[in-house]
Amino acid sequence: MAKALPKKADFSEWYSEILSMAGIVDVRYPIKGLSVWHPFGLTLRNRVYSILRSLLDVDHQEALFPLLIPETEFMKEAEHIKGFEEEVYWVTKGGDTPLEVPLALRPTSETAIYPMFKLWIRSHTDLPLRVYQIVNTFRYETKHTRPLVRVREITSFKEAHTAHATWEDAEKQVHEAVRIYSDFYDRLAIPHIFTKRPDWDKFPGADYSIAVDTLMPDGKTLQIGTIHHLGTNFAKTFDVQYEDVNGEQQYVHQTCYGISERCVAAVIAIHGDDRGLILPPEVAPTQVVIVPILFGKGKGVYEAAKRVHKTLSNKGFRVVLDDSDERPGAKYYKWERKGVPLRIEVGPRDLKSNSVTLVRRDTFEKTSIPMSELVPTINQKLKDIHTNLYEKVKKSFDERIVECTTLNEVKTAVKKGIAKINWCGAEKCGLRMEEITGADVLGELTQTKKGKCPICEKQTDKVVLMARAY
Ligand code: ZN
Repeated sequence: MAKALPKKADFSEWYSEILSMAGIVDVRYPIKGLSVWHPFGLTLRNRVYSILRSLLDVDHQEALFPLLIPETEFMKEAEHIKGFEEEVYWVTKGGDTPLEVPLALRPTSETAIYPMFKLWIRSHTDLPLRVYQIVNTFRYETKHTRPLVRVREITSFKEAHTAHATWEDAEKQVHEAVRIYSDFYDRLAIPHIFTKRPDWDKFPGADYSIAVDTLMPDGKTLQIGTIHHLGTNFAKTFDVQYEDVNGEQQYVHQTCYGISERCVAAVIAIHGDDRGLILPPEVAPTQVVIVPILFGKGKGVYEAAKRVHKTLSNKGFRVVLDDSDERPGAKYYKWERKGVPLRIEVGPRDLKSNSVTLVRRDTFEKTSIPMSELVPTINQKLKDIHTNLYEKVKKSFDERIVECTTLNEVKTAVKKGIAKINWCGAEKCGLRMEEITGADVLGELTQTKKGKCPICEKQTDKVVLMARAY
């Protein structure tokens, strides 16, 4: 008998068990903070990232930069180093020979990419330049690690880097990145919210940072993407200049924005239930599983199941016919755990009426469908599942964002979700708010509301979100 999955209400246990039970990652690799993608998990990951690629490929170019960064480049940007120095892995030897210049395993790639931008960018006609890569990066995390959420090897870091003629052009790109990330998370049916990070929490070397967060089932927020306006900070450090229309040399204005495999963690954590994963149809490695119900003389049933399989795979659905020797109940259980959006049961009774039985993973709704309407019905049901998943989690997300006026209210709100509260914008007030509530200031909303800072009581229209963050 298969091991039972803990209840989703016990989220931390549920999350670590489902990763192994559904075949997402194997955490038994003998280095802390590193894990192995199982083939099923990797297929899911690839489907998620292919959405991201398709959104970026519209006007970005994919590139691939080396993993190793010379210490001499890495150490150029003072603020950047300060932000990362505790987290860098260093390669110091080649065989037995000490390297003249130690090499960093990239924790992020600004210092690998911008020296090349210096060589690539000559004139205003080379701008805007937009590249991205999807690579592994390494960070020596000292906090408690958790697969796909807090790791020492980020296996799937999508980082985009852009260069523009003016600060305003770069700012437009920041807005464009917000739109791309918003579209991306809509496609994954993940509710999300953007805030401008407070200054003490911005990316080291950025003018400002925007982050996108979602809310996990345990009420903690998960940062699932960041977008940074770098101004000319890195351009000055790496001497990235272009010749403007008047023949003058100018520094480029830059942005960068990243998403890690936390996007996959969010899909798993937010949609799953007590029985296992529930995957949005667009990213589900298997969209439809066919289970023949055989009672002794079931040859006709098996043939019919094969016909259904052929029809659906010819139409481009990702479909599996489970003809293993397990009992139907065991098969249901197995495929429910893997989050397959639709199950088709073909039994003797279905055969008689020339129909099949369709079962939805999200609602367990069961319907009988005539064979002649199979393809359009499957298409429609997959769309309905996406919509239903999104509506359900969006409702729960919205309900857990609570308007607060006092820090006591914040303390209560962050037990289950996100608190919204006025803040004057002063760093010392923000830090004090964190200290008193034990929660983090996620960042400022673009939306404003009149009220008082809970610390200095100054009138303000700035609103921030606070939460317990992963
Ligand atoms: Zn204040």
